[in-house]
Amino acid sequence: MSTDAAITPDARERLRIHPVEEHGRLWSELWDEGSFLPWDRDAPNPALVDLLAERGTELGLGETAGKKALVPGCGKGYDVLLFGSYGLAAAGVDISESAVKMAQACSEQALKEKPISGAAAFVTADFFKDEFVKELHAEEGFDFVYDYTFLCALPPDLRTSWAKRMHELVKKGSGYLICIEFPLYKGIETGGPPWGLTNAVYDELLGLGFEKLIHYMPERTHEVGKGTDYITVWRRKAD
Ligand code: SAH
Repeated sequence: MSTDAAITPDARERLRIHPVEEHGRLWSELWDEGSFLPWDRDAPNPALVDLLAERGTELGLGETAGKKALVPGCGKGYDVLLFGSYGLAAAGVDISESAVKMAQACSEQALKEKPISGAAAFVTADFFKDEFVKELHAEEGFDFVYDYTFLCALPPDLRTSWAKRMHELVKKGSGYLICIEFPLYKGIETGGPPWGLTNAVYDELLGLGFEKLIHYMPERTHEVGKGTDYITVWRRKAD
């Protein structure tokens, strides 16, 4: 997502005031219209690129056979291809069918130019519902789940459900949840999406079920988060 100025009041209103059940349709409308996608940056977040390159071995990326990665709210899915390039079976899930179609088209194009050793799949589904888990044969959990501009896209009253769902989806005892904490430059009272977040909110949401392994301000990130974004790697506790 972009700065406040890039979000037109109209688009924000549409996503802010409607009941949660309407969100899939509303996000899809934005994707269908196609002219207002301020969060789309045409590339994976450099903070994730650097984390995987510099600390991937520590996170088990040296041996990826049979391992799965999930990117919820994947949009055009650049990060899915990045995980796939490490040999993972990576999947992006988005509630908008148009987003998923665009992600498929983008990835087809990108794979022609640069094949990956793993796999990249895209599924139209609601993060909070179970169907995609079966479809991706991930009942045992994902080895990696990545959140960037997804938590902040959800209405704040869904934050506890987001944390509970992450706990269900990340593999017990060994799986990692990687969060780029964003947007930390604005207060929640200024509205959303993107809804303002803080380090403390992430800690409160994830601290019980996950162990915080890595937490730092990355040197590189998308422009909008420079000087405020943090990257955090959480390991799912065994219980
Ligand atoms: N992470 C992407 C897209 C961010 S915008 C990027 O950085 O480019 C947030 C995305 O979440 C939108 O594409 C929207 O369609 C999707 N989304 C919103 N609610 C969702 C839900 N319940 N399940 C899956 N995707 C959802």
